[in-house]
Amino acid sequence: MSNDRIALITGSNRGIGLEAAKQLSNQGVKVILSGRDKAKLEAVQATWNGEVAPIDIIELDITKAEDRARAAQKIAEQYGRLDILVNNAGVIVEGEWGQNNSETVSQEDLNTTFSINVFAQIGLTQDLLPVLKKSKAGRIVNVSSILGSLAVNADQNSSWSAVKPFAYNASKAALNMFTVSLSQSLADTGIKVNSAHPGWVKTDLGTSAAPMDVTEGARTVVELALIDSDGPNGQFIHLGEEQPW
Ligand code: NDP
Repeated sequence: MSNDRIALITGSNRGIGLEAAKQLSNQGVKVILSGRDKAKLEAVQATWNGEVAPIDIIELDITKAEDRARAAQKIAEQYGRLDILVNNAGVIVEGEWGQNNSETVSQEDLNTTFSINVFAQIGLTQDLLPVLKKSKAGRIVNVSSILGSLAVNADQNSSWSAVKPFAYNASKAALNMFTVSLSQSLADTGIKVNSAHPGWVKTDLGTSAAPMDVTEGARTVVELALIDSDGPNGQFIHLGEEQPW
């Protein structure tokens, strides 16, 4: 595809989202930065060092239906299409590491986590489908986690199965279901939908204990955003390798 692709990345004011935006811009992609705090986006724009400057910034709290609708309308009116959607924004609620399991998790933590990590991703994607369908080669990347893998969690020998921020893990399993289901319903459109496991990455969410830096951590997301028409669809990928659901 020609180098005039347009990408919207949620939560691209910091972490993996910001790094993915920079790497995509270095590949010639026209990036629309988005986040829930306009001041943070403007600060990113002011210090931008990617190849192609972001073409736009959109204030977008993905949990707010009015923000999602406004973003979709703006993209439709100004650009007429969207080639790449990276559903990156995500949270682990404060204190969930090592605490919440399926016996103890609170309704509040489930609500917060699922609102952002699942319901909002589905709502935003649905709102953007009309502009994604205008692309010659639409790509949707759902930024998931290996912690959402049922197979890995069920394997007592896996080192990941001991990591139990329950609400987070369950939310990423639900996001993976969205990937599978949407990839099938869009199969005739040319739009490819995949889940990315970035790795365990040094960010605010991943903590400073993570082994991977953000440059490497954005790699899987960027690769899936740029896959060709013969690339994967409806898969769960980390650094080019298929992961177990
Ligand atoms: P960060 O905590 O660094 O960044 C999270 C981003 O999400 C921020 O930009 C934040 O915005 C944004 N965000 C949170 N809630 C909303 C919302 N309601 N609307 C819009 N934006 C929102 O995390 P990472 O970069 O590490 O995480 C990015 C993705 O990668 C997440 O989906 C995460 O689950 C996934 N992931 C990360 C791993 C890691 O090890 N780091 C491992 C596996 C998956 P704000 O600045 O306003 O809070």
